[in-house]
Amino acid sequence: MAAPPRNPFNPPLAEGVRRYGFRKWYERELLSSHAHLLLTLLCAIALIGMLEVFHGGSLGEKLLDVLLFIASAAIGLWSLRRYLYLLMHAEEVANQANCPACGAYARFEVVDEDRRRGRTGVRCRACRHEWSIES
Ligand SMILES: [Zn+2]
Repeated sequence: MAAPPRNPFNPPLAEGVRRYGFRKWYERELLSSHAHLLLTLLCAIALIGMLEVFHGGSLGEKLLDVLLFIASAAIGLWSLRRYLYLLMHAEEVANQANCPACGAYARFEVVDEDRRRGRTGVRCRACRHEWSIES
């Protein structure tokens, strides 16, 4: 999976864990993904509304309606894709957040990061075991 573009709301795992801790990072990823789902739903409502008003109106109004329809569809598809990406990514990382040695969940610190391979090296705070999280 391609690395997401850098933005202040969804930092990569290593940066997010250093800045907020894993639980907060995970929470932010889920909140952000559900905000995109909400945007997708609003776009779907806008599309239905535009179909309703398409009947009647002048040629210029119909043309504007078609342009807005295309824009809403594009934004809706983008936000749906972003929703699915953020959700799947957060779940994929959360499934690897248990320490393989002692089973402690989300109690780790970042030791190194290989962004090209999407691999983050982490160390358990309970037993000091090291493993890597792929994302
Ligand atoms: Zn451990």
